Amino acid sequence: MKLLDNKVAIVTGASRGIGEAIAVKFAEQGANVAFTYVSSDEKAKALEDKLTALGVKAKAYKSNAGNFQDCETLVAEVLKEFGSVDICVNNAGISKDNLLLRMSEDQWDDVMDINLKSVFNMTKQVIRPMMKAKNGVIINMSSIIGIKGNAGQSSYAASKAGIIGFTKSVAQELGSRNIRCNAVAPGFIETDMTNYLKEGETAKTYMEKIPLGRFGTPEDIANTCLFLASDMGNYITGQVLSVCGGMNV
Ligand code: NAP
Repeated sequence: MKLLDNKVAIVTGASRGIGEAIAVKFAEQGANVAFTYVSSDEKAKALEDKLTALGVKAKAYKSNAGNFQDCETLVAEVLKEFGSVDICVNNAGISKDNLLLRMSEDQWDDVMDINLKSVFNMTKQVIRPMMKAKNGVIINMSSIIGIKGNAGQSSYAASKAGIIGFTKSVAQELGSRNIRCNAVAPGFIETDMTNYLKEGETAKTYMEKIPLGRFGTPEDIANTCLFLASDMGNYITGQVLSVCGGMNV
C-alpha cells in the first residue's frame, strides 16, 4: 500500500525543477499524474516516460497556467482521460526580478499572471469535481519571499504573498466539503530558477541566513507536498509550510 495509491494528481509546471520532483514523488507513491509545461517538449516527454515506467498513468499537457482558457481545457481533458482530480499542485511559476524603478508593466503582469492568476485559474476548475467527490487536496507553491519580501523581487513577492491570502480563503470556503488547501513556502532551492544566484557573493549572503547551512533540493519540497497530499496531512488546511532550512527565523 502506497501513500497515494489510485489518486489522480495534476502538477503544473513539472517539466523541470520542483514540479518534476513532485510528479516523480507522487508517481512513486502510486498516483496517476497529469502534468503541464509550456516550452520543454523533450523534457516533458522524458518525464512522461519516466512516470509511466513507475507503473502509473501519466500524461504531459502543454498548457499555460496563466491562461484561464488553457486551464479550463486542461482540467476537462484530465477528467476525461483520468476520471477524477484528487490532488492539484499549483507549482508553475516564474521570476522576472528587477528593482521597482526599472520594472516594466509587462514584467509585473507576466509574473502576476503566471504565479498568481494561475492559482485562481486552476483552483477554480478543480474544485467542481472535488466538491462532487467531497474530497480534494490543493497545494499552492508560494515562497519565503512572499512572507519576507526581498529587494529587487517586488512582483515575485507580491504574487507569492497573494497566493497565501488565496490559500487561506479557499481553505475556509471549502473545508466543509473536505477540500484541504495549503501553501508551501520554499526557501532557496537549487533549480534553473536560482541558477544565477548559486555562485559568488550572492550565494554566500544567502547561505549565511540558512541555519541548516545548505540550499534546498527539489526533493525537499516534493517530500513536503507528499505529506500534505496524503492522509498524513488530513487535519491540515489553510496553512503555509515554510521549507527553507530555517531561513525565516
Ligand atoms: P523552474 O526550475 O524554473 O521550473 C519552472 C517550471 O514551470 C518549468 O517546468 C516550466 O515549464 C513551468 N512553467 C513556466 N511557466 C509556465 C506556465 N505559464 N504554465 C505552465 N508551466 C509553466 O522553477 P522551480 O524553481 O522549480 O520553481 C517551481 C515553483 O516553486 C515556482 O512557483 C517558484 O516560484 C517556486 N519557488 C521556487 C524556489 C526556488 O528557490 N527554486 C523558491 C521558492 C518558490 P517549461 O520547462 O516548459 O518552461
